[in-house]
Amino acid sequence: MNIFITGGAGYIGSHTCVELLNAGHQVAVFDNFCDSDPEALARVERISGVRPRLYQGDVRDLDVLTHALRDSAATAVIHFAGLKAVGDSVLHPLNYYDNNVLGTLCLLRAMGHCDVKQLVFSSSATVYGDPIELPIPEKHALSANNPYGQTKLVIEKMLRDLYSSDTSWRISILRYFNPVGAHSSGLIGEDPKGTPNNLMPFVAQVAVGRREYLNVWGNDYATPDGTGVRDYIHVVDLALGHVKALERLQSRTECEAFNLGTGIGYSVLDIVRAFEAACGKELPYRIAPRRSGDIAVYYADPSKAKKWLNWEAQRDLKTMCEDSWRWQSTNPLGYG
Ligand code: NAD
Ligand code: UDP
Repeated sequence: MNIFITGGAGYIGSHTCVELLNAGHQVAVFDNFCDSDPEALARVERISGVRPRLYQGDVRDLDVLTHALRDSAATAVIHFAGLKAVGDSVLHPLNYYDNNVLGTLCLLRAMGHCDVKQLVFSSSATVYGDPIELPIPEKHALSANNPYGQTKLVIEKMLRDLYSSDTSWRISILRYFNPVGAHSSGLIGEDPKGTPNNLMPFVAQVAVGRREYLNVWGNDYATPDGTGVRDYIHVVDLALGHVKALERLQSRTECEAFNLGTGIGYSVLDIVRAFEAACGKELPYRIAPRRSGDIAVYYADPSKAKKWLNWEAQRDLKTMCEDSWRWQSTNPLGYG
């Protein structure tokens, strides 16, 4: 297949390019590099032997986007492009509605113009809000605690409404839990700009000496060691979930949501210990007050993806930390 990937130079997009190319697909990337580096695509080429075709542009620019999609001759789209920093979305909500919601609206219009009606969309476990059931199944009630989560909810609703109006669309909504790790080559990985908000890249930067110590946001949650519990999933497993989602869409029209997680919860201190084992160093940390808006425990029921997509995460926490460390230690400053 020929697949058009918005945000394909980003963290999850670059890993997905590699897995699609490995599976024999062709890929075209559309990205404005607002949160990524073109070097990621050069690295994709080093891993896979193929340089993805690149269209540089903003998804909110309907003419440029439509032209690129038509020129690529793609028959399916994976939509990663968007902003994802929860805290920043509270400070600058309109940037998030503009980039994420308007960007997706433009994409759907461009797809309509080009008669491309297959879409895999990057949603997030954040759409479950404060969970009332664990593990979290797809049928769990949806809500959002912040503007970023709200944009994902609006987009999911837009996709369901679109499908109701025209059932020839084929749409897969993938709700990611906590993507971590890097490609086993160490050539591509997560490269956050500024101070990382997420745990694993922060821990990796402490390990490589870019940060002095980790703040553990709260040790008084109702969890085994008092620190927050999450469902960390290796980014390569996540990327393979997209390949499976596309395969499924070949044989049916639908609009379905799937959790992509492992179903296993690890605490912040579990992550620190696993990373220490991977990098062979003790990692300094301090217990700090809870981070506002944080939830105690979050992990997926991934059984729908197993049954419907024939997909299951394979990589364990040890592999996540070892791969993350290989990337961070060989690229201490990321792509820059
Ligand atoms: P990322 O920031 O690494 O990648 C996003 C890519 O989109 C970047 O290359 C950026 O330059 C590009 N982009 C952003 N706005 C654009 C625009 N208007 N036009 C064109 N390109 C644009 O993020 P990621 O971690 O790879 O996340 C990809 C998607 O997955 C996002 O939609 C994010 O919300 C979602 N997601 C991520 C996580 C996570 O923890 N990484 C969790 C759940 C969901
Ligand atoms: N966390 C932490 N210190 C950090 C970053 C995160 O203790 O510097 C904790 C956070 O409180 C949560 C877990 O690590 O319990 C995962 O946080 P992350 O931001 O990576 O994911 P999210 O909270 O969005 O699921």
